[in-house]
Amino acid sequence: MPHRQSTFLRSIALVTLRAQPMAATEFMELALDQAKLALDNLEVPVGCVIVENGKVISSGSNKTNATRNATRHAEMEAIDVLLREWQSIGLDQALVAEKFAGCDLYVTCEPCIMCASALSILGIREVYFGCVNDKFGGCGSVMSLHKSSSSDDLTGSQDTRPRGFKCTRGIMAEEAVALFRNFYEQGNPNAPKPHRPVRVDQQLLVHIIDGHLLKGR
Ligand SMILES: [Zn+2]
Repeated sequence: MPHRQSTFLRSIALVTLRAQPMAATEFMELALDQAKLALDNLEVPVGCVIVENGKVISSGSNKTNATRNATRHAEMEAIDVLLREWQSIGLDQALVAEKFAGCDLYVTCEPCIMCASALSILGIREVYFGCVNDKFGGCGSVMSLHKSSSSDDLTGSQDTRPRGFKCTRGIMAEEAVALFRNFYEQGNPNAPKPHRPVRVDQQLLVHIIDGHLLKGR
């Protein structure tokens, strides 16, 4: 926990000390720090940060093993930090939605279908990710939930209508894949051996783990 806190504080310090706006790769480096934290804790190494007005306001690393909860992906961790904070200061649903509409997410691997769907409903502005998640990716690989902005009101509620979001892929993808490779080389005590080794397609930087991504992240 102290390690996580120090990484996050370092992230905040890095951002606040800079006069110039940070580039996407600089935010992705902070997301990679979170992924390394997951790796240190024997979790599938995925990390993210959420940025508002050029500042990191939340971060998350995959915690599915520690929590024994397959939904505790890095994105969910980072989202929950903000939801708790904003609800504690009394923001209602409309104001929370307004806040998310001004936020961008940087995550080391393409959000899975569950996370992409949540991000779309929350109405995040833009998602930047590293490597693709060709088994469970919800931003173009398996489904394209970022394009699911719809005027169809199936539920009758503005709050649960997917809004979709802009999506940019391939930022520091090689670094993200290297962490996955590292993870499977060091061995995941909580998962069976992969049927196939992690493979890096030099064109697409496709990350293949045969279902382990769903277990682990
Ligand atoms: Zn996910």
